[in-house]
Amino acid sequence: MIDIQLSERQERIIDIVKKNQPITGEAIASELNLTRSTIRPDLSILTMSGILDARPRVGYFFTGKTGLGIVSDKIGSILVDDVKSVPVVLDESISIYDAIVFMFLENVGSIYITDNGILSGVISRKDIIRTAMGGTDLHKVPVGVIMTRMPNIISVKPKDSLLSAAKKLIEHEIDSLPVVEEVDESNKEYKVIGRITKTNITRLFVELGDNN
Ligand code: ADP
Repeated sequence: MIDIQLSERQERIIDIVKKNQPITGEAIASELNLTRSTIRPDLSILTMSGILDARPRVGYFFTGKTGLGIVSDKIGSILVDDVKSVPVVLDESISIYDAIVFMFLENVGSIYITDNGILSGVISRKDIIRTAMGGTDLHKVPVGVIMTRMPNIISVKPKDSLLSAAKKLIEHEIDSLPVVEEVDESNKEYKVIGRITKTNITRLFVELGDNN
């Protein structure tokens, strides 16, 4: 169990609620020989953190949630849409050389490739290194020749949970996922509306850790 730093008094309040629920704030205070207003900040911390549930005119309940349960509820509620960033997209016909220049300019490790605005592939640093080692003329060959192609592109939808996106990154050992919207349901045609990278997830981890 992750410890949310609770004071001794807050721990005692939890015990009292567990044993006597539902119990009013007044009754909790009198068990502790304190006034209702003294324990008001403790009760707000315990309800805000999801450990206690306050029902008007009934009293306080223990939610049964441990620290870990609360953390996973919070993480599970975050959607791809909440953290996605702007996608970096090029057309299939662009030369590998120009894609490399674009990668440096945009400071990204992978670029989504489209054909007439529809997602057709992904090109990453390794694809480019592999091609350069093979002696290909980077000025002449278009990215469309060396990219990973549809239907092998792993993507996510805006309303997918960020947790499911993170699992895809790990399972497929890739650095980023295009966030897509269906243009044509039957033909599996997608346009790219964002991207999720390991950086998005690291940033969120820091925000949650800093409690922002
Ligand atoms: P890097 O090459 O910088 O290590 P990745 O690990 O993301 O970047 O890419 C590894 C391989 O996976 C590359 O061949 C790349 O084309 C492919 N790839 C990257 N992202 C995806 C994706 N979302 N779906 C399918 N393949 C991908």
